[in-house]
Amino acid sequence: MSNYDYDLITIGAGSGGVRASRLAGGYGARVAVCEEDRVGGTCVLRGCIPKKLLIYGAHYADYMEDAKNYGWTFDGVKHDWRKLIENKNAELSRLNSIYLNILKNNNVDLKEGRGVLIDGHTVEVGGKQLTTENILIAVGGWPSMPDIPGIQYAISSNEALELPVLPRRMVIVGGGYIAVEFAGIFSGLGVDVTEIIRADNILRGFDNDMRVSLFEEMGKRGITIRTETEVRGIEKDGAIFHLRLGNEEIIETDCVMYATGRNANTKELGLEFAGIEMRSNGSIKVDEYNRTSQPHIYAVGDVTDRIQLTPVAIQEGHAVADMLFNNNTRTTDYKNVPSAVFSTPPIATIGLTEEEARVKYDKVDIYDSNFKPLVHTISGRDERSFMKLIVEPKSDVVVGCHMMGTDAPEIIQGIAIAMKCGATKAQFDSTTGIHPSSAEEFVTMRSKRD
Ligand code: NDP
Repeated sequence: MSNYDYDLITIGAGSGGVRASRLAGGYGARVAVCEEDRVGGTCVLRGCIPKKLLIYGAHYADYMEDAKNYGWTFDGVKHDWRKLIENKNAELSRLNSIYLNILKNNNVDLKEGRGVLIDGHTVEVGGKQLTTENILIAVGGWPSMPDIPGIQYAISSNEALELPVLPRRMVIVGGGYIAVEFAGIFSGLGVDVTEIIRADNILRGFDNDMRVSLFEEMGKRGITIRTETEVRGIEKDGAIFHLRLGNEEIIETDCVMYATGRNANTKELGLEFAGIEMRSNGSIKVDEYNRTSQPHIYAVGDVTDRIQLTPVAIQEGHAVADMLFNNNTRTTDYKNVPSAVFSTPPIATIGLTEEEARVKYDKVDIYDSNFKPLVHTISGRDERSFMKLIVEPKSDVVVGCHMMGTDAPEIIQGIAIAMKCGATKAQFDSTTGIHPSSAEEFVTMRSKRD
């Protein structure tokens, strides 16, 4: 046993930090984790979980509308935003206590307060200095907003999850994951949503067909998307905000939300005292074993700006604990990481986009299917689903799979296993479909796109 107070001090009790700490504690290491907020991190407290609960809440409006053609009638339908927020918060508190128990049951000491590095083996937290053999930095990220006049009037996704009342109108700036997800939540709950993006379409980096299809579906739902538009400044006039656009047009709204990316949370962490190298955007450089430029200091999750997804941070944290305390040195596999955007309707994806595949291979075969799901033949909802497979013809391997439509994340998770196993198009074709379902389209697409 070393002379340090701990074998591992983790800074940040989010998904990656908790996974590493609890496993390390379970392997018998002396572990402390520092957290300045509640335990749980972005995913549990300010991201994936609360966002998805609000999405479920918003979708009931669609279901009730759909139900009418199935013979249902409703009287006096109302929505109570406060109740949704209270119940969402109760669920977050429940998850927070589960995380606290996990740490306790694995003998991890929770140190409340911001952990700051004093040197490469000393962390100060809550006014006390603790020494440690290894350090794991898992402090995540925080919303970043451009420096324009009046930006102080804008909220981020953090505040959007806690709004005291629903605004009548809302402008969301940005076209990434968070912007399109929140556009779906608020428009579903009856808010008049305008999304302002600087590019010509939403979701840069996604398969173009998915981007175009989602853009269309969002439009059908009444969301206005202003493309190639820049916001120059925001002015407040009582309870109303005026956004000045690049063409000098003024848009009036009741709430302005920015979802323009997230930055690593590395300010004032004392990283310079430990000699840790960072990138110009403030994220921490690590090698394939999550080691920073100091070999006994590790970093995982959003703070490293690799793939900003909870399950990836968890895998990285797991790998650090295994390597340090379970004699199992391994890297994380970043190939074929599936992901979903919980837009309305959602998009889920794995592997290459068509655009990436065309750069990588001489030739690619595209199979796709664009259809009205059975449920909407009666509901009357004007919403389509779009599925797409990208195949490398020489090997017949499926190198990309994308879906926009109800249940896309649930469906693509299963396809991700097949793709992890290197499934070929012939194997997709020889799989029996589940009928009637949307998912069966993935095993019944027979004709290549010309
Ligand atoms: P993204 O990086 O996904 O999107 C940022 C958006 O903001 C882009 O549309 C970008 O435009 C735009 N933007 C950036 N800077 C400016 C600016 N100065 N003015 C106007 N627009 C700007 O970030 P998010 O904040 O949506 O999400 C952060 C990350 O969190 C995601 O990348 C994702 O990894 C993760 N996440 C994952 C979720 C999931 O798995 N479902 C859900 C939410 C977040 P342009 O495209 O032109 O650069």
